[in-house]
Amino acid sequence: MKSLNTVPFVSVENMMRLVLDLGVETCIEQIAAYIEEDFAKWERFDKIPRVASHSHEGVIELMPTSDGVDYSFKYVNGHPKNTRDGLQTVTAFGLLASVDTGYPVLMTEMTLLTALRTAATSAVATRALAPQGSTTLALIGNGAQSEFQALALKAMCGITKVRLFDVDRSASEKCARNLANSGLEIVICDSAQAAVEGAQVITTCTADKQYATILSDNMVGSGQHINAIGGDCPGKTELHRDVLLRSDIFVEYPEQTRIEGEIQQLDADYPVKELWQVLTGAVAGRESQDALTLFDGVGFAIEDFSALRWLRDALQLSGRFTDLDMIADPDEPRDLYGMVMREVERMARERSAA
Ligand code: NAD
Repeated sequence: MKSLNTVPFVSVENMMRLVLDLGVETCIEQIAAYIEEDFAKWERFDKIPRVASHSHEGVIELMPTSDGVDYSFKYVNGHPKNTRDGLQTVTAFGLLASVDTGYPVLMTEMTLLTALRTAATSAVATRALAPQGSTTLALIGNGAQSEFQALALKAMCGITKVRLFDVDRSASEKCARNLANSGLEIVICDSAQAAVEGAQVITTCTADKQYATILSDNMVGSGQHINAIGGDCPGKTELHRDVLLRSDIFVEYPEQTRIEGEIQQLDADYPVKELWQVLTGAVAGRESQDALTLFDGVGFAIEDFSALRWLRDALQLSGRFTDLDMIADPDEPRDLYGMVMREVERMARERSAA
């Protein structure tokens, strides 16, 4: 696919075309399989909480990990106020590299890829934790992530009906329009309380830089599963603490989630279970049909690593990339300076030929 001095680069345009070639749901299902494969070898990965640079309006984060064979990182921002200026709340790009040589092997936009992998992760958690026979999803927060979340749960978890709520009704209308031909039955609701009625699965994906209360205890019953994905920063949560105290809580990487997730509201040693251990069977998931389960999803580097591995494999078939001249490649590896001087000569030859 590549020579050593160029790096395949997937632009937003090529990512859109790849997603259209394969179909959104197929992409999500495939990425979910890569996530499950990587979660099964969780202990082999280098893991640290992501490195966050906070500002008054948002956060910029770096998310590195490695399984000893491949290395990846993602650059991602979270700025809830951005949509007021016509900018997105979350944008991202990232890179996959060979541990053996340290050379990058893939660089890509990751705004779309993040939406796909976040949806895939919610579906992996929901498939493992939701009550059997769940068909109705309450989807609260109908912005950039929302359609991907709905389609993931349709493709992988048997969801057929989606009840939408957003404080901005035009966001729900946009989401309903986008999902009109998806095969999902869509209802726009006037409140979060109305949206959760009859839903076995609730996904909150709102963006607000505060301790918000999207779900209070009286809104949630038993026999439900919640994916709380919008609370992903210190001081930015979505659930009332009482909901947490009543839930079986599942997280990605506790060290990161205790800083960023809903559980930042709880004591530092409050017991939580790790999703990867549910997937390997080491830890029980849903213990009864009546239980209230919560996936406190903040997004972890291994999910991006999985998405990048998926993309690398998908590109073998699709060719939807361009080559980036990103790695200096002198004829003699130690003659980096000579490479620059030869460029002077080459430019001079070009000038005299012109
Ligand atoms: P977005 O800005 O496009 O959409 C957020 C929506 O939430 C908006 O339509 C807004 O009107 C709505 N909203 C805000 N407050 C609300 C409230 N109180 N009740 C109902 N709706 C409300 O953002 P996005 O890209 O869709 O991301 C949503 C959230 O998910 C963000 O907080 C983002 O940081 C987070 N996120 C998490 C992960 C993860 O892996 N966990 C990945 C990507 C994004």
